Amino acid sequence: MNERPSPLVDASAFAQVLLDLPVPHPLQYRFEPEHVSIARAGMRCVVPVGPGRQMLGIIASVSPECSIDERRVRTVRRLLDDPVLSRDWLQFCKFAADYYHHPWAQVALSALPPLLRVVPGPRAGARMTRLRRAPPPEATPAIPQTLLAPPLREEQRQAIDAIVRSRGFAPFLLHGITGSGKTEVYLGALTAALRTDSDAQVLWLVPEINLTPQFEARLRARFPQVRIVSLHSALPASERTGAWLAAHEGRARVVLGTRLAVFASLPHLKLAIVDEEHDTSFKASDGVRYSARDLAIKRAQLARVPVVLGSATPSLESWHRAATGRYTLLTLTPRAADAPEKASVSSVIRPAVQSVDIRQHPAQQGLSEPSRAALTEALARGGQALVFINRRGYSPVLACEACGWLSDCPNCSAYAALHRVGGDSAKPATKAWLRCHHCGWGRMVPRACPTCGNQDLRPVGQGTQRVEEALRQGWPTARVGRLDRDSARRADAAQETLARVHAGELDLLVGTQMIAKGHDFRGVSLVCVLNADAQLIASDFRAPERLFALLMQVAGRAGRAGQPARVLVQTRFPEHPLYRALAHGDYGEFAQEQLAERRAAKMPPFTHQALLSATAKDLPDALQFLATCRRAGLDLCDDGSIALYDPVPMPLARLASEMRAQLLVEATRRAPLHAFLESWLALVRTIKAPRSLRWHIDVDPMAI
Ligand code: ADP
Ligand code: ZN
Ligand code: ZN
Repeated sequence: MNERPSPLVDASAFAQVLLDLPVPHPLQYRFEPEHVSIARAGMRCVVPVGPGRQMLGIIASVSPECSIDERRVRTVRRLLDDPVLSRDWLQFCKFAADYYHHPWAQVALSALPPLLRVVPGPRAGARMTRLRRAPPPEATPAIPQTLLAPPLREEQRQAIDAIVRSRGFAPFLLHGITGSGKTEVYLGALTAALRTDSDAQVLWLVPEINLTPQFEARLRARFPQVRIVSLHSALPASERTGAWLAAHEGRARVVLGTRLAVFASLPHLKLAIVDEEHDTSFKASDGVRYSARDLAIKRAQLARVPVVLGSATPSLESWHRAATGRYTLLTLTPRAADAPEKASVSSVIRPAVQSVDIRQHPAQQGLSEPSRAALTEALARGGQALVFINRRGYSPVLACEACGWLSDCPNCSAYAALHRVGGDSAKPATKAWLRCHHCGWGRMVPRACPTCGNQDLRPVGQGTQRVEEALRQGWPTARVGRLDRDSARRADAAQETLARVHAGELDLLVGTQMIAKGHDFRGVSLVCVLNADAQLIASDFRAPERLFALLMQVAGRAGRAGQPARVLVQTRFPEHPLYRALAHGDYGEFAQEQLAERRAAKMPPFTHQALLSATAKDLPDALQFLATCRRAGLDLCDDGSIALYDPVPMPLARLASEMRAQLLVEATRRAPLHAFLESWLALVRTIKAPRSLRWHIDVDPMAI
């Protein structure tokens, strides 16, 4: 569609076809004579593979010659000329494939929307027409005042100006706490980008599917004439394909989506936005392990346009790049408390974060005395409170005190959590289950200890359900709600609970990080955080960074609309620098400390990493395979530019009955790392391994 015809078109009898097969390169096919003159790169096609099988492929390129024995070359069966994928899009997929060391074909095919990935049926043409039919124009309802553009603050105007005035590729890091007005900056930059020309397109990435409706409403209210599509994995296949085509054909001007939207075809991209850029959901955890944030930056670079990364707690990688001048830092300071008569929606008061030392104030049912007192006081004043605990279920483990039995998951090196089921907000649960949060294994709670027969099994520790129970017991007249993946199993249950909080129909809400993201609770005057330490002592070196982001986000839920709010964090380490920086609400202080530590310990962003992981039935198989890989690697790099660590079992070594091990590769510079990975993985592919063994490579891994 937006493709220049290749000068070779007339003579090109052969195609290099991208197929989802475990081969690193495109495969060659020949065209039927009637296809020769029309075939070109970017078309999809149907080709024979193996005996009697057909597959859908993408034509990567066409050429007059064939590089293998012509008699062995098979013929393209069908040529699909709608849509034609652009050269730019294919090149972007190629870049992602090279960077993440994954086959180009798999990247490109998995980047296509579902209906374009499969061999189309006989009536595909009619189906495409249906997909293209724009949805009926929505009646534009009266637009609520809150969705319209407020008069901008000077800082916001300057930020927008900087983005709009930039030329070519220009990365920006927009830093400001929740409610400081970042979204208004995105919207300002988006407005300007759409005005540059009548085809201009904007890519806007958000971390959570359940945040897209909220942004969509705000966008649609501002731009009733502009076609906005959303792209995420929960959309029905036809809708996702329709949205993808609308972007590809330039009919959609704004693409709002989760990480997979970074692979949208955007022929007229003028601006990319990555909101909550630090969020780990931008990194894919299976298949091609890409980072949508990093790929968005690459896309902006290829399209020579600005990209805005926004966050209250930027990733240390991005913060470091801003600190060293590679990104332009744009800062929105929270507005100090306005005089009460001037207090408006925009006035942000930083909540006061305090640590509660649970060595001095031991918790009962998860809640320490200062937390209880604060809850009572908040309720007495008619405010709402959030209780945050990052563990769902009733308790993380069930124990027999007589013999020491613990509720292990039979498939994982983890405990199965105790869950209550059957009850609801009013009546207590009738049944209890053990459930593993890693593999999904579950069973009814045994009547007696499976090893000694003792009937007195005790839940150990707290989960959201148990805290909910404690809140109901402690504050019997309060209206208590719970929000976690279990309570939100029904599609709109989460939205309902959130709406009840907004409407003031709930006084206390307990929940996991589901309550931390993207929702602002204006009536909330207190947030209690219960088990923060669990993450602080986790083995992953990024754990403090994540904890800080999470706690800032939790704290950011409260204290809006001019109301002062308190945040109480229960901890055993109140003097930890993380809690100190949190009390100051100072991300810069925290980032500086962390970066100094990372520099001293030679960790990212001061080094670059890749992780080779293997899973097998038996741990020794996985470890042995990785040891062989390591030896092969050592022979390749004797100049010391690459460090290959010893293979080790993963922190959760056994998952769903598979044993997992990993090998860390590190280098101080990126180029030698990629050159090494390229030749090393070629060797790794040839290493003999037990049949049950599978391996994958993760470049820039998020968890180690
Ligand atoms: P963030 O994205 O940083 O969380 P938002 O842009 O969503 O912040 O702003 C938070 C709230 O403040 C929104 O309701 C928004 O409409 C409002 N707001 C933002 N900027 C201004 C401003 N300059 N004047 C008044 N209200 C504003
Ligand atoms: Zn026992
Ligand atoms: Zn399990």
